[in-house]
Amino acid sequence: MKGLVVAIDGPAGAGKSTIAKKAAKRLGYAYIDTGAMYRAVTLAFLQSGRKFDESYITGLAETADISFRPEDGKNRVYLNGLEVTEAIRSREVTAAVSAVAAIAKVREALVDQQRKLLGQGSVIMDGRDIGTVVYPQAQVKIFLTAGVEERARRRYLERQAKGEKADFEQLKQEIAQRDEADATRAVGPLKQAPDAVYLDTTHMDIEEVTACITGLVRSAEKEANR
Ligand code: C5P
Repeated sequence: MKGLVVAIDGPAGAGKSTIAKKAAKRLGYAYIDTGAMYRAVTLAFLQSGRKFDESYITGLAETADISFRPEDGKNRVYLNGLEVTEAIRSREVTAAVSAVAAIAKVREALVDQQRKLLGQGSVIMDGRDIGTVVYPQAQVKIFLTAGVEERARRRYLERQAKGEKADFEQLKQEIAQRDEADATRAVGPLKQAPDAVYLDTTHMDIEEVTACITGLVRSAEKEANR
């Protein structure tokens, strides 16, 4: 039987990747982080040293070989054979990614790759437009969000835990700017699908959210097997 597709969309720092990774492990599903794909193309562009050029960046997106390999609890990301797991999380990439993701042809190329990765299902895919554009047929759709203060707080603690310097107000501003850019672009904007379950995690911990999502997936599996 073809497995289910679980689409998790939501704004920056809502905990999508943490939750999706945990839920996927518990359910025995694959996990695909589409944000990592936009980040990988952005990294390739920054490494080229060129000025912002839509057709050049589109070329990068069309030829990029992006793959994922889960390893000791980490979701390792490879770009054209090289590991870029950490490099795609840099501040430079984070600052530039929304502009790259707003290029219609870049989205076309990556959405195409994402649909191919969905293969036989049993996949959790997270991003901004999974339930609306990439795979509106997904059997489970979740819109995961939290207040901007709380999302900035989580990012702040994450940076501190890594021993990196962080400025709370600046993080909050960067997150709000990225949300604004992602929600107002013409193609594939951040938007809740009408049939997605809205989950505000401001006052929930990781375990509660993971349990909620695995519960939704198990119910959908029962439904599909009837
Ligand atoms: O999920 P993450 O924060 O790593 O995503 C980085 C950026 O990639 C987002 O801010 C957004 O601009 C872009 N993105 C997107 N569509 C997706 C996933 C991510 O435009 N499906």
